[in-house]
Amino acid sequence: MASSKLFSRLTIFPNYQVKLSALSCIKRNSMINNNMKTLVSYFSNSTKYQYDLVVIGGGSGGLAAAKEAVELGAKVAVFDYVTPSPRGSKWGLGGTCVNVGCIPKKLMHQAALLGEAIHEAAAFGWQIPGEPKSIINDWDSLKNAVQNHIKSVNWVTRVELRNKNVDYINGNGYFKDNHTVVGVMKNGDEKVVTADKIIIAVGGRPRYPDIPGALEYGITSDDIFSLDHAPGKTLIVGAGYIGLECAGFLNGLGYDATIMVRSIVLRGFDQQMANLVAEEMEQRGVHFIYQAKPKAVKKQDDGRLMVHWVDKNGEMHQDIYDTILFAIGREALTVQLKPENAGVQILQENKKIFAENEQTNVSNIFAVGDVLHKRPELTPVAIHAGKLLARRLFGNSVEQMDYTNVATTVFSPLEYGCVGMGEEDAITHYGKENIEVYHAFYKPTEFFIPQKNMSHCYVKVIALNNADERIVGMHFIGPHAGEVIQGFSAAIKCKLTFPILKSTVGIHPTSAEEFTRVFITKSSGMDPTPQSCCS
Ligand code: FAD
Ligand code: NAP
Repeated sequence: MASSKLFSRLTIFPNYQVKLSALSCIKRNSMINNNMKTLVSYFSNSTKYQYDLVVIGGGSGGLAAAKEAVELGAKVAVFDYVTPSPRGSKWGLGGTCVNVGCIPKKLMHQAALLGEAIHEAAAFGWQIPGEPKSIINDWDSLKNAVQNHIKSVNWVTRVELRNKNVDYINGNGYFKDNHTVVGVMKNGDEKVVTADKIIIAVGGRPRYPDIPGALEYGITSDDIFSLDHAPGKTLIVGAGYIGLECAGFLNGLGYDATIMVRSIVLRGFDQQMANLVAEEMEQRGVHFIYQAKPKAVKKQDDGRLMVHWVDKNGEMHQDIYDTILFAIGREALTVQLKPENAGVQILQENKKIFAENEQTNVSNIFAVGDVLHKRPELTPVAIHAGKLLARRLFGNSVEQMDYTNVATTVFSPLEYGCVGMGEEDAITHYGKENIEVYHAFYKPTEFFIPQKNMSHCYVKVIALNNADERIVGMHFIGPHAGEVIQGFSAAIKCKLTFPILKSTVGIHPTSAEEFTRVFITKSSGMDPTPQSCCS
C-alpha cells in the first residue's frame, strides 16, 4: 500500500496513537518497509473484523478495558446482559459492584453507621427530637434511595459509553468462534459481531447450596439491596466478606441477624483479626451459629421460613426466620459463554479462567476481573487490570498488572482493613523465627464520650526480622479502616520498613496514627492494651 493511501486510511482513526506514531516513523526513518508491513497487517486485521475489540461483560473490569481501548483509538463494542436472579431481581449496566455489590453495600453500611451516630449524638449534647428508635422505621425509603442512586450511575455509564463511541449491546454473549461473539437480545433476536480481540469480563453470580428450598425461598446479595419488604429476622449463611457485611448492616439497621459459619470466619484473612471482628459483631447483637450447615428451607403457612441445619456432631436444629440470605461464594459465568466454540479453556474445579497476564490459552482472547483464577475478587483489581490490558493491546504499553499487596477492607460495623500477609501466611512463608509482629489495642478519642466499646480496636504490623525489617503485612480494626489502610498500601508498594514507619510522625488525634506508635512485639509477651486514655 502506498504511504499516501495509507495516510488517507489513518485519518479515519484520528485518535489512533499507535497508527499515527507508526506513521511518523514511516516518514522519518529508513525502516519504512517494516513499519509499512506492520501497519498494513494491523489494518487488514481491523478491516477484516467489525471491531478491534469486543468486551463480554460491562462490569468493573470490562468497562475499564473498553473505555481505555477506545481512548487509544480502537473500535470497541461491549456486551452486557443481566440474567434475573432466581427471585427475579435484575439491574442495569455497570456490573456487580455498582448494582448489587460495593455501592449498595457501602450505602447500607453507612445507613447503619448513621443509626449508631444518632444514639451517640445525644451524649455529645444534641437534642434528638423523639426517642431514637433501635430499628430503621422505613426500609422502603432506604431501599429506594439506594436504588435511585444506582439508577443514576447506570444512566451516567450509558451516556459515557455513548459519548466515547463504545457500542453497547444489551445482549447475552456467547462465542461462535474465536473472533465471533453472538449476543442473545431480550426479544430472543441474535446479534453477531466479529472482532480482532476479545476480552472476557463476565464476573460471577452468587452460589446457592444444593438443599431443598434454597432456590425457591432463599435470597442472595443479588436481591437484598432491592428487597421490596423489610428483611426482618434474617439468617445469613456464609462467613466471608458478604456474610459479615450483610449481617453487620442488617443488625445495625435493627433487624435480628444470625450468621451460620461452616468452618471459620473470614477464611484467607489473618485469623486473630477475623475473630476480633466476629467478637465485636457478637457484642453488637449479631448471633453466630458455628460449625453448622443448612439442610433445608421450608415455607410455613404464615409465610415465614423454617430452616433446618446440622451441627458438627450431626445433630439437627431448626429455627424460623423471615429471610434466609446465602453468601457462600460466587460462581464464574463462563459456561454460558460456550468457551469451547472458541477453544478457551476453563478450569473444571471452579469454572474460572487461568490467564497469566490476562492472556487466555487462545492468542486473541483475554480475561479480566472476577472470572480469573486465583485473583482477588475486587473492583479496583478488575479496573486496574482492565486498563493495563487495554494499554498493552492498543497503546504499546508493556506494563503488567501487579496482583500482590492489594489492600482490602471488610465493611463490618467496626471495619477491618489490611494489606499484605496475615500472621499465619507470614509464618508459613518466612518461618516464625524470621518475622516480628508488632501490635496494640488503642482507644479512638471519639469513642470516649458516647462510651463506645473499644475493646476490639486493634492494629498489627508484621515485619521481617532481618536488617531491613521490611513490612509484609498491616492490619487495622477501627473506624474508617478503608481510608486508613489505603495510604499504607502505597507505602508497602514502596517497600516500607519498620524503622521508616517508626520515624513517621503521626497525625493526632487519629486512629491511623496508631500504626506510627506501635512498638510492642508479640514475642515480648508485653500487654498490648493501652495504659491510659490518650498516651
Ligand atoms: P462484574 O462487575 O460482575 O461484571 C460482569 C458483567 O458481565 C455483569 O454485568 C454481568 O451481568 C455481565 N455478563 C455476564 N455474562 C455475560 C454474557 N455472557 N454476556 C453479556 N454480559 C454478561 N469489591 C470491592 O472492591 N469492594 C467492595 O466493597 C465490594 N463489595 C462487594 C459486595 C458484594 C455484595 C459483592 C457481591 C461484591 C463486592 N465486591 C467488592 C466485589 C466486586 O463487585 C467485584 O470484584 C467486581 O464487580 C468484579 O468486576 P468484573 O468486571 O469482574 O465483573
Ligand atoms: P467468600 O468470601 O468466598 O465466603 C464464602 C463463605 O461461605 C465462607 O465462609 C464459606 O465457608 C461459606 N460456604 C461456602 N460454601 C458453603 C456451603 N455450601 N454451606 C455453608 N457455607 C458455605 O464469598 P462471599 O462472601 O460470597 O464473597 C465473594 C467475593 O466477593 C469475595 O471473595 C470478595 O473478594 C468479594 N467481596 C469483596 C468485598 C469487599 O471488598 N469489602 C465485599 C464483599 C465481597 P468456608 O470458609 O468453610 O469455605
